[in-house]
Amino acid sequence: MIFQPEYETLERHALEALQLERLQALVERLRDANEISTEALAGVAAPRSLGDLAGLPFSTKAEMRDAYPLGLLAVPPENLARLHASSGTTGNPTIGAYTKEDLRVFGEVMARSLAGGGIAPGDMFQVAWGYGLFTGGLGAHGGCETLGACAIPASSGNTARQLQLLTDLPVVGIGCTPSYGLVLAERLRAERRRPKALRYAICGAESWTREMRDELEELFGVVATNIYGLTEIIGPGVAQECLSKQGLHVQEDHFLAEIVDPETGTALADGERGELVLTTLTREAMPVLRYRTRDLTSMVRERCACGRTTARIDWFTGRVDDMLVIRGINVFPSAVEEVLLRFSELSPNYRIFVDRPPHGLDQMLVEVEHHPGAALDPDQLAQAVTTRLRETLMISLQTRVVSPGTIERIEAGKARRVIDRRTL
Ligand SMILES: [Zn+2]
Repeated sequence: MIFQPEYETLERHALEALQLERLQALVERLRDANEISTEALAGVAAPRSLGDLAGLPFSTKAEMRDAYPLGLLAVPPENLARLHASSGTTGNPTIGAYTKEDLRVFGEVMARSLAGGGIAPGDMFQVAWGYGLFTGGLGAHGGCETLGACAIPASSGNTARQLQLLTDLPVVGIGCTPSYGLVLAERLRAERRRPKALRYAICGAESWTREMRDELEELFGVVATNIYGLTEIIGPGVAQECLSKQGLHVQEDHFLAEIVDPETGTALADGERGELVLTTLTREAMPVLRYRTRDLTSMVRERCACGRTTARIDWFTGRVDDMLVIRGINVFPSAVEEVLLRFSELSPNYRIFVDRPPHGLDQMLVEVEHHPGAALDPDQLAQAVTTRLRETLMISLQTRVVSPGTIERIEAGKARRVIDRRTL
């Protein structure tokens, strides 16, 4: 179901006219919004076409951190209706501020996302993302209300309670991180219980691959789609995969997307892989111009089989910041995950260790669990996986195949896939 066909299926030229109008208004608003944006836009001409976007300044995570807590506010503080924050791994968290209108837009893009992932008005939707400062829980909650679905505010963690809700109530969809979806699916299977009505999982807030999706769908018995967002822009709901599974639809009337070369910042053509850059076209409290997400993807603008005309971004190859450099070679954890999950004996529970022995070269060890009941010789399988990983990643490494349950499951927050002991 398409929640707002008047925007989601808008003809390209009409959509671009709307985007330009909103971009021009945004730039004018930012000129005297706060000291930081006034300075950034000094001497910058107003855009006369969407092509002029390239002449506008970028904004970065570091600038947002420096502006902590409210340096980037574009409205008087008394106009705010809510604050969220993303936990920074280094330094200050990033604050996301919302006016009442921003919360309406947040609800709207989340309602479109839920509908895109298979949820209909009247359905029960279990929100297993964290409630609180994190945008996931309350964001999805607002989306349910806007869509006319029934939100079950389970929040993250408390697996026994989550399973009870899923098996007792006619819950049609669940929103969670993909790794937590796996935790729930594994527990259901181990306890030989079945959800009463679950058909859809909308997963995000963590990087994952299509291979992981296939695995999750099979274990959980659901159709799983990918949702994308970030606190700096609004939270989840910036883009959502539809049931055609041909990429994630960007809510382009609210968020203007570009793909740029992560090194030079120059724009790349449709289909080329680079860094996603986002501009908030309608955000009031904390608008952002050309935000460098550090997320690597590509974009296409053809009409999708689902009928939506909005641009689609591909599944992320990773984040610029997640890239490991091992003996001078770039390694993305997502590439490791893709290889592992092509082995039917292996489960999606894995970890990557990177070590730097004294006077030695960097070493990488991939530890992965096999599926319960899989007939295999762990050493032989490890050897086969090592060979395949070496061919794909072009570096030497070790693999260890371990029993199901060896690797710690994360009930709340993001799964920790990479343990880089060089930096610890
Ligand atoms: Zn589609």
